[in-house]
Amino acid sequence: MTGKKMQKVRPIKKNSRDSDTTLLGNAYIRAVNRARIIDLFRSGNSLSRADLARRCDLSKPTVSAIVDDLISEGVLQEAGKRSSEGGRRARLLELNPESATFVGIHFGESVTQVAVTDAFGRILTKRFSDTVSGEPDTTINTAKSLVIKALDEISSDIERVTAVGVSVPGLVERQSGTCMFAPNLGWRDYPVAKRLSELLGVEVYVANTTQTAALAEYQMGVAREVQDFVWLYVGKGVGACAVIGGRIQFGTRGFAGEIGHCQVDHNGLQCGCGRRGCLETTCSNLAIVREACKAVEAGHATSLASLEHVLSAHDVSFAAERGDEVARKIMYDAGRALGVGVSLLVNIHDPQMIVIGGPVAGGDEHFLAGARESAAQMSIESAGAKIVFSELGRDIYLLGAVSMAMEQSNAAYRIVKSAKAMDVDDTDDMRVNSNAV
Ligand SMILES: [Zn+2]
Repeated sequence: MTGKKMQKVRPIKKNSRDSDTTLLGNAYIRAVNRARIIDLFRSGNSLSRADLARRCDLSKPTVSAIVDDLISEGVLQEAGKRSSEGGRRARLLELNPESATFVGIHFGESVTQVAVTDAFGRILTKRFSDTVSGEPDTTINTAKSLVIKALDEISSDIERVTAVGVSVPGLVERQSGTCMFAPNLGWRDYPVAKRLSELLGVEVYVANTTQTAALAEYQMGVAREVQDFVWLYVGKGVGACAVIGGRIQFGTRGFAGEIGHCQVDHNGLQCGCGRRGCLETTCSNLAIVREACKAVEAGHATSLASLEHVLSAHDVSFAAERGDEVARKIMYDAGRALGVGVSLLVNIHDPQMIVIGGPVAGGDEHFLAGARESAAQMSIESAGAKIVFSELGRDIYLLGAVSMAMEQSNAAYRIVKSAKAMDVDDTDDMRVNSNAV
């Protein structure tokens, strides 16, 4: 995995105030510094002991003591010497890729995906299976089987897994990892983290699909280096995740970004959430298929009429790409409808970028044109916000889930979170900002 890693914990210096040192204790300080050192290697860097001392603002003996431990534990390994620019060539260290194993799980609306990664978050193997709507126990058990098979494929086992990150397309209560409501999965009040950690015996972290996707986009996608952007999902449903100042905006409980369920038409169609006229009834893949079926039934001249299988949004996008004017109009109109939501996001967040992702919209130029046009017309000032498609493809949720597992299982994250009184930045929200130490 390339890209940035989290962590912006202010260095804990040896001359920290006495009360702070007493409060946190030397063991904690050592654990935090150890975790910070490991973090510096996660993006694939090879670093010397002097590099670490400088970047962590620690003394060389302190760094050497921690590094010696990490080498003896197999976490770090020697990586040769830096090419010389005069003077002694520094001995380099790198993360041992086998020192940790992470698992990412994405409960998609139709497919459940599982990935196993090395300590860098690089995917080693993937597995997938159908998601069974309305049966979370069945789907969770399937995910467990996929994880076991994937680990077996690389001659590993569950004991070696450090943490599991999970992406769910619905409302996820952050603290408990409970899915409160996922209309397109048919899940309600389902304790995903609890059930999975019982089944796997590993720490499990759960977030909404758009949140994991935004994390992946920030770390390795088109929003690399972009501090203020919104990731906008368009699939069976529509949802958003804002990243502001390099931080994911979860809201109080984790439910922020449910733009798909903002009402845009008082007299609109019934939505999966039980209300009427929600944004997603106007521009999701269900809306695209609905309009395509209407066009076929009305006898419009379209290649979609000759398809013998049940129509999908992908069929409509594909037909549009091949010059079908009816399909083009459907995609354009759906994009325009999404643009209403984009204008709300632009007005509220003033982002540098809106990244549209999800199985429907991916790459459809007519959809994007519609979204850009209506967003420009309906926003108070949208010129500063680029509206683009995600380029990370279907693995984005898995990559984001793995990144979340890597971040949240990080010792420094948890220790500092529990020690806000200490002279360190609070890390109460998941940081995607990595302007490092
Ligand atoms: Zn709704």
